[in-house]
Amino acid sequence: MKDRFEIAAELREIARLLAIKGENPFKAQAYLRGASALETLEADFEALVKAGRIKAIPGIGSALAATIEESYRTGECRRLQQMRQELPRGVIALSEVPGLSLKKIVALNETLGVENLAELKAACENGLVSNVKGFAVKSQAKLLADIEKLKSPGEGALLLHHADDTAEKIINHLRACPELIEAAVAGALRRRQETIRRICIVAAGTQPRPLLDRFLGFPALTRTDELHDSRCRARLVGGLPVELVIVPPDAYAAALHARTGSRRHIAKLEQLTRKRALPGATADGGRQARPASESEIYRHLGLQYIPPELREEEGEIEAAQRGTLPELITVADVRGMTHCHTVYSDGRNGIEEMALAAEAMGMAYLTITDHSPSAYYARGVGIDRLRAQWDEIARVQERVKITLLKGTESDILADGSLDYPDHYLEQFDIVIASIHSRHKMAAEQMTERLLRALKLPWFKVWGHPLGRLLQSRPPLECRIEAVLDAIATSRCAIEVNGDPRRLDLEPRWIRAARERGIKFIVSTDAHSIGGMKNLRYGVATARRGWLTRGEVLNTLEARAFMQAVHP
Ligand SMILES: [Zn+2]
Ligand SMILES: [Zn+2]
Repeated sequence: MKDRFEIAAELREIARLLAIKGENPFKAQAYLRGASALETLEADFEALVKAGRIKAIPGIGSALAATIEESYRTGECRRLQQMRQELPRGVIALSEVPGLSLKKIVALNETLGVENLAELKAACENGLVSNVKGFAVKSQAKLLADIEKLKSPGEGALLLHHADDTAEKIINHLRACPELIEAAVAGALRRRQETIRRICIVAAGTQPRPLLDRFLGFPALTRTDELHDSRCRARLVGGLPVELVIVPPDAYAAALHARTGSRRHIAKLEQLTRKRALPGATADGGRQARPASESEIYRHLGLQYIPPELREEEGEIEAAQRGTLPELITVADVRGMTHCHTVYSDGRNGIEEMALAAEAMGMAYLTITDHSPSAYYARGVGIDRLRAQWDEIARVQERVKITLLKGTESDILADGSLDYPDHYLEQFDIVIASIHSRHKMAAEQMTERLLRALKLPWFKVWGHPLGRLLQSRPPLECRIEAVLDAIATSRCAIEVNGDPRRLDLEPRWIRAARERGIKFIVSTDAHSIGGMKNLRYGVATARRGWLTRGEVLNTLEARAFMQAVHP
């Protein structure tokens, strides 16, 4: 059975195909309006379909209602299938290339069988396109340049911290508008996903128009895709869509909740609602008192409050029903800034600067963990400079209140050994063990390498465990369950690395680790004072992995932490 979001996606595709065909723009608009009516529906969708009352939804007329009902009942949308058959495959992606009209796409498809951008690019590179009717050698070169400029969907996504900064700027920009009552970010960004494909902001206000005007005046917006009475979708310079939804103040909590998603989470709540009406909506589209807060929405369903980071339909609703949702760690729980680099290796600030910055953030301790010698590209610290660093740490300690711990981020070498002689490893206050080379080792060999390192007798923290770099390097391959099993019986904790390019270990494996009773540190991997901001992303990732304060070692006070992690 299709849910309303899947059906809305079909309506959007029809709208796009109508526009490509050059049909009356009002037709396409009607489908877009219908799609957004479904996406933002507060009433129970399935109950409305079953009662034959889809037409009662504002923005949906008879023809559209018939299409929606058909798609829901039969699982198929004939209108869409028909249009897909009429038009060449891949027409939507191809139509993104500037100047490529439907006529030209059809010619390319019929002559060369081109069905996507990659094939079009290859055809251009091989000089085949200039033979197609309507194309010259010159237009082929221009086409190639235009394809290069188009970004693939994955590339358009922003990393969490960039999306976070941008959304914050937009909200601050909106705050200058006196009509704004409140505003917050929703969607995947509020759920703290690691990459963001769309920023959605929900605002409360009684007069949408001035808010929309203010929003569209945000300097980094380059084009407006959709503009409605109280909603607008525009694009940032890099192509990322940003949506602003304005609702009356009494509808704010429900709208923020619905727009935060995830779709699967909301769909599951809707199933529960069928047994118990959601506050703010009834099956016949009528209204009850609207929820004043998100907590009220969950309370009404007999659930514990579910924080946004957990709303993924991965067991959180069942746990909330049982009352067993953990109380998640917060930034305020963290007492120690862990995994920090200084100018001794590839950091930008000195020991004292880092100490003062961490102190200013209210931290009780800071672990200095520069790279070990084999990380030559990162100016790993050799034995002689290590002595000098320890001396400097001792001198700085006399001048600052925060407790300084002398540590290392030691490479896990290819054979699974660590990078300093044993009697040095023993002298550190904390050892973080990380892989920085040979990421592509075969899974079995990698597993052996990790098992050997993590079972070493010293207490160590497994740093940025799977070594992924978002959008550029996939996680390393190993039998992770076996590695976690070994950690559970070794002197070892796992890092949740808050560098927004890493966010490693990722949430699903954090949960697998916590089920084994493994402890964590939430760290910043700061290479400068500014990098300490990563703490918020580390904590967000820990929360997505369901971690509580008690499972995270650097929520301990300095003395207890030092005892817990001492090698
Ligand atoms: Zn590292
Ligand atoms: Zn590091």
